[in-house]
Amino acid sequence: MTVTFAERLARLPHYEAGRQADAVRVEYGVEELVKLNSNECPWGPHPAVLEAIARAARETNRYPDQSATTLRRRIADRHGVEPGGIAVGNGSCDLLLAASEALSEPGAEILFSWPVFSMYPFLAPLSGAREIRVPLTESGTHDLDAMLAEITAATQLVLICNPNNPTATHVPAERVARFLEEVPAQVTVILDEAYVEFQVNDDPDSTVDLVRRFQHAVVLRTFSKIYGLAGLRVGYAICSPAFRAAVDAVRQPFSVNALGQAAASEAILHQDYIADRAAEMLVERIYVEEEIRELGLETSETQANFSWIDLGDRDEGEVVESLARAGVVVRPGAGLGGPGHIRVTYGTRAENEAFIAALQDAI
Ligand SMILES: *Cc1c(COP(=O)(O)O)cnc(C)c1O
Repeated sequence: MTVTFAERLARLPHYEAGRQADAVRVEYGVEELVKLNSNECPWGPHPAVLEAIARAARETNRYPDQSATTLRRRIADRHGVEPGGIAVGNGSCDLLLAASEALSEPGAEILFSWPVFSMYPFLAPLSGAREIRVPLTESGTHDLDAMLAEITAATQLVLICNPNNPTATHVPAERVARFLEEVPAQVTVILDEAYVEFQVNDDPDSTVDLVRRFQHAVVLRTFSKIYGLAGLRVGYAICSPAFRAAVDAVRQPFSVNALGQAAASEAILHQDYIADRAAEMLVERIYVEEEIRELGLETSETQANFSWIDLGDRDEGEVVESLARAGVVVRPGAGLGGPGHIRVTYGTRAENEAFIAALQDAI
């Protein structure tokens, strides 16, 4: 007899993670790796955040505040909402998993675009729900009309990744509002806005108003990207108190650890720092996009901290390999649902220059 596992395990997608940076380092003997494969930011958090982490580190013998009171209050203050409408998680992925567990069951439908964030295909198999994928438009943008047409009596959850990972495109808040008007009120719509601070179509906070207007809308944000705190795993939802209660009910207690709470509580106070980082990334975006175009390659219209590059008829594997040999790690499109592409995160100017030089060699 051998150990048997839950049937749903076999239904989970086989996730093709980007090659671990360390594997590239060892394989090619590269010392200075340029890591542009996970959409992290190249800078660390605000100095006051480092101090807050150091202070909190002295009290790690204690469990964290289970209600994350300070963190939730500061997030609420920042967005002008009530703390009761803020849920926090061990990264926003924790909230996505909890939402699908709390909202769906066998027979329910979860609707999202494709290609989209590689985490979404895990949600339906875990809960026994069915997933419905709607192709992005030619330009790599959400096709909200087509999504609307797929909503049925069984639809429980709609996920809109905006700006979209991996295509980097953005749908303006006003278009999202019209979509929400059409979606039946019993269907929860999660707006996954991990990159919203980088887009320049809208005021990044305009979607917060949508949560006030629509009971069934949830805005999901993270400290992993522009805040430079990916290593601590903190995300949050701006939502109804009912949604918060639902996700809290299905998770273990203390889902956000003490260092994460301390860091995020401090980080959110430094919005000037965040605005500066966004401006800095915009400069890098323009630089990288221009250089890519100079090389004769096309990208989708990015509103994020990464580009989605169409390699045309070049061999994706060979390009990725050639970049790796030069010490530049990017994410191959095939594993993200977009073969023939690479997704490259913007780093520092020096890193971006290294990428462009390596790309020129690779093609
Ligand atoms: C990076 C990313 C996140 C952030 O996940 P965390 O769990 O908060 O680190 C969420 N959504 C998308 C689409 C992302 O790309």
